[in-house]
Amino acid sequence: MHSEMAGIEIRDLHLSFGSTNVLTGVNLTIEPGEFFAFLGPSGSGKSTLLRSIAGFGPRPQGEIRIGGRPVADLPPWKRDVGMVFQSYALWPHMSVRENVAFGLRERKVASAEIRRRVDEALELVGLAHLADRMPNQLSGGQQQRIALARTVVIAPKVLLLDEPLSNLDASLRVQMRRELLALQRKLGLTTIFVTHDQEEANTTADRMAVLDGGVIQQVGTPQQLYDTPVNLFVAQFLGTAN
Ligand code: ADP
Ligand code: MG
Repeated sequence: MHSEMAGIEIRDLHLSFGSTNVLTGVNLTIEPGEFFAFLGPSGSGKSTLLRSIAGFGPRPQGEIRIGGRPVADLPPWKRDVGMVFQSYALWPHMSVRENVAFGLRERKVASAEIRRRVDEALELVGLAHLADRMPNQLSGGQQQRIALARTVVIAPKVLLLDEPLSNLDASLRVQMRRELLALQRKLGLTTIFVTHDQEEANTTADRMAVLDGGVIQQVGTPQQLYDTPVNLFVAQFLGTAN
């Protein structure tokens, strides 16, 4: 699975639901191949920003480029992005193999190539031996790995992860965090990881953006944010304020 690396540029993004401003003047550049985290409390706009990049929900004002290409007016399937959600939502009536193959079948990929790519994706998440199981025969962690395989098999240029580990118990979360990072490094896939857990962001992200009230408060490496938070909110959220 060779993914082409693409950066993301977001310019002056605004989005409101009725009279509520959910995103206000978001500017952000994510480098090709970066593991980038959106960190912030519940309701801070992380999912809305991620969904705007993916092309779900109302069109925001402003500009979004993926790999240099303006995408704000393109539907999700034309943006070269793959998204994994908190609830894995595998199709219950399809085997693991069929779940992973689904997106390729929709794209009319030849069946020999589908077999090869599905095997490769299952290998990548370490679950090739479960190819013929049904989703209800899998643990939560296994289901989330399959959801990941189902997304990377499409060879997206950008991987968008919306709190993908928050349904898992604590020890599994730590293990899957490592697996996710290893997989991202192996594929070199530009990745945005949404979380409300500062430790999860600190231990994975090359850089992160801290959001509050639909506004990016600060962008930097975990070390930069820890050492020099720009305001009290960032300091408190990262747990560095006394
Ligand atoms: P987060 O992912 O950081 O928890 P969200 O992006 O889900 O935050 O939500 C940000 C804000 O936008 C919240 O105040 C939420 O209530 C509001 N919001 C999100 N989606 C909708 C919607 N479809 N209609 C109205 N308000 C929404
Ligand atoms: Mg959310």
